[in-house]
Amino acid sequence: MLKVKNLTTIFKTDKNTVTAVDDISFDVPENSTIGLVGESGSGKSVTALSILQLLSSNGKTTKGKVLWKGKDLLASPEKSLQSIRGKEIGLIFQNPLAALNPVFTIGNQLTETIRLHNPELSNLNALEKAEILLTEVNIPDAKKRLNDYPHQFSLGMCQRIMIAITIAMNPKLLIADEPTASLDVTIQAQILHLLNELKVKNKMSIFLISHDLGVIAQHCDYVLIMYLGKIVESGTPIDIFKSPQHPYTQALINSIPNPDPSIKKETTLLTGDIPSPLNIPTGCRFHTRCPKAFDTCKLKEPIFQNHLESSKTSKVACHLFENNLK
Ligand code: SF4
Repeated sequence: MLKVKNLTTIFKTDKNTVTAVDDISFDVPENSTIGLVGESGSGKSVTALSILQLLSSNGKTTKGKVLWKGKDLLASPEKSLQSIRGKEIGLIFQNPLAALNPVFTIGNQLTETIRLHNPELSNLNALEKAEILLTEVNIPDAKKRLNDYPHQFSLGMCQRIMIAITIAMNPKLLIADEPTASLDVTIQAQILHLLNELKVKNKMSIFLISHDLGVIAQHCDYVLIMYLGKIVESGTPIDIFKSPQHPYTQALINSIPNPDPSIKKETTLLTGDIPSPLNIPTGCRFHTRCPKAFDTCKLKEPIFQNHLESSKTSKVACHLFENNLK
């Protein structure tokens, strides 16, 4: 349904040009959940904004295609993009309070969206639909709560309301950018469960972005690991968890705490921060933090490709596989 091919996005500053997303490709098939994982600053959110062409004024996609049902969104006029954003591809962010208008009731905000996409509906019918949507996202006492303002809800409830507003347009793809990052663990689980239910019920796909590999593994059919603007490994959750190939993926998995102290884990943990995109290391961009780096890594960029020892679904960008030195 969505095909991203060789997407490259840059940002211009007064003195520099920063490549935030560098030649990435992936597909989001119908009725699937595809996860994108990486640290802050890896380019995950820029990927989402590039798909919908919602970049800030100094950002630009310089290469690639974003094919939505065969149509390249990067080559589409703004008017055509406006009819796709929200209606066909929905987007939810980490902070629902930033997306909700504090001076309008939830009922106002929901009915405005409903009527925008169903102008034939009367106010009363739009309000009835708003109540149904709030009930669907598990807001108790939905009819009464339509009269409340965003500040009268908890953060978790605000995220449910944002999900209700987004699904009011019945999108076929939902891009969820860190939808649970600001929530408590139990609420996180409820929101992810809700997204899963809505995916099945509304027959939509989800492109789930998170820094948390555990969240992604539990909810996705396919996982993309991103580091400093590049996808460095991809595979099914089983590929990624049972047999992580890239040293970065291995370190991400090692960093997930295990509640059972009797299980001994490898303790190769990453040191340092992700380098600045202003100063991308030469060769393999992970070499400055990679415990397995060798001379070639500083000089030559690895190719992202299938490798013999893994399943057909898995790809990795690492010289260890090209040179069979694993
Ligand atoms: Fe590490 Fe080299 Fe592989 Fe990069 S190419 S991940 S530096 S071993």
